[in-house]
Amino acid sequence: MRTMNLNTLKTRFAPSPTGLIHLGNVRTALFNWLMAKSQQGHFLLRIEDTDQERSKTEYVQALEEDLSWLGLNWWQGTLDDGSQTPCMQSDRSAVYHDYYQKLEESGLAYPCFCSGTELEVSRKVQRASGRAPRYEGRCGFLGKEEVQAKLDQGLKPTLRFRVPRGETVEFEDLVRGTQKFASDEIGDFIIRRADGTPAFFFSNAIDDSLTGVTCVLRGEDHLTNTPRQLMLLQALKLRAPEYGHISMIVGDDGSPLSKRHGSRSVAELRQNGYLPNAVNNYLARLGHYYKDNQCMSLDELAAQFGASNLGRAPARYDVAQLDYWQKEVIAQIDVESLWLWMGEEVHSLVPLDKKEAFIDAVRPNIKLPHDALLWAHHLFAKMLDLQGDALQIVQQAGADFFKAAIEAVTAHPSDFKLLNKQIKETTGAKGRGLFQPLRIAMTGEHNGPEMSALLSLMGEERIRQRFEHCLEIIS
Ligand code: GLU
Repeated sequence: MRTMNLNTLKTRFAPSPTGLIHLGNVRTALFNWLMAKSQQGHFLLRIEDTDQERSKTEYVQALEEDLSWLGLNWWQGTLDDGSQTPCMQSDRSAVYHDYYQKLEESGLAYPCFCSGTELEVSRKVQRASGRAPRYEGRCGFLGKEEVQAKLDQGLKPTLRFRVPRGETVEFEDLVRGTQKFASDEIGDFIIRRADGTPAFFFSNAIDDSLTGVTCVLRGEDHLTNTPRQLMLLQALKLRAPEYGHISMIVGDDGSPLSKRHGSRSVAELRQNGYLPNAVNNYLARLGHYYKDNQCMSLDELAAQFGASNLGRAPARYDVAQLDYWQKEVIAQIDVESLWLWMGEEVHSLVPLDKKEAFIDAVRPNIKLPHDALLWAHHLFAKMLDLQGDALQIVQQAGADFFKAAIEAVTAHPSDFKLLNKQIKETTGAKGRGLFQPLRIAMTGEHNGPEMSALLSLMGEERIRQRFEHCLEIIS
């Protein structure tokens, strides 16, 4: 059985499995993973599935798959409190129960019977008088008998934490420095819902402490939750982790990242053919400064990761940057992996003995498997269907040009320079007038792989057929 060294740094990712994980969640997971690895620590996974209606097993599976695909492996074994990882909050009701009891017995938590309507009215009144809405503590004054009478009526209370008055909660945020919050600004908050399930503030803080998490990097939308959680842990005499609140990811218009900005789930990126290391290299730099602009492995990214390089300004999502890293990874990846990534349709079009030559030729011109498939079609399909601009360029080049091209490819089947020279000398064509019709006749495209690479890749026979096809179209 694996147990942990109690002194190592422990981080965690604690998603709520209520949907597919998006880039924002994954970046949080990545930062925590990198932080742990940067100090030979452990990265834990905890599933916050307390919202029974919205949490789904398929989302747990999907997020585990996403993390594994990215290489963000989580520590598995026995945690400080004897529980196993990944831990599921829905399995931990007994643990929470004990701590609720402790708080209630010491008068630090009390049942609240206020209805949704009552709470809404109170909030409205506070807003109308210019105050920030918070629970005013009505049920905190109920006597034992009053509570019992309400329970006897069958009312189902929530449980609220009694926030200490007149205190300042202060903590050093790993990203944002010293933070101070006045406890008087915070109303007594719910730690157990009326249906008995734990509220986020509670189970999240308790589990971090009990499982020995020492460092939490999470989105800055959680910053105002932290004083509540620190007060809870203090009341229970439980050790608190250090917190670092990372800047949110925004779209190019500055608003929080959403589908509208082209942000997609990790599953979708994977299905479209983005490579894990491209996603990692991109996200690692989204809100974290790296001096080194090389494409790095996860371990290399970890070695240069540090809380002092985390930025406070919102990080801007830019799909062009993701594409940049994708191309960097494609430039480096080995032939076999790239071939596999291209997929079966490409395999069925490109002859196996041309695999390496095909990859060499198209590598600089592809971003997604779909691009590889297009090139496989362009280069190996029986015939090209030339239309529009492409057709016009071929027609303008004229029949004599393609007659000369057929002779040239027969004379110089493996030397593009000589082939080119011969056409130039026979027809007088040069520059664009020479290259463009040739490229279009061979590939159907205006741009693409090096022509010399195409000559050996496609072979004399296929290229001659394509020139003959152009001749037919013209005459
Ligand atoms: N389940 C919470 C969320 O997904 C976790 C927040 C945290 O990292 O503490 O937002």
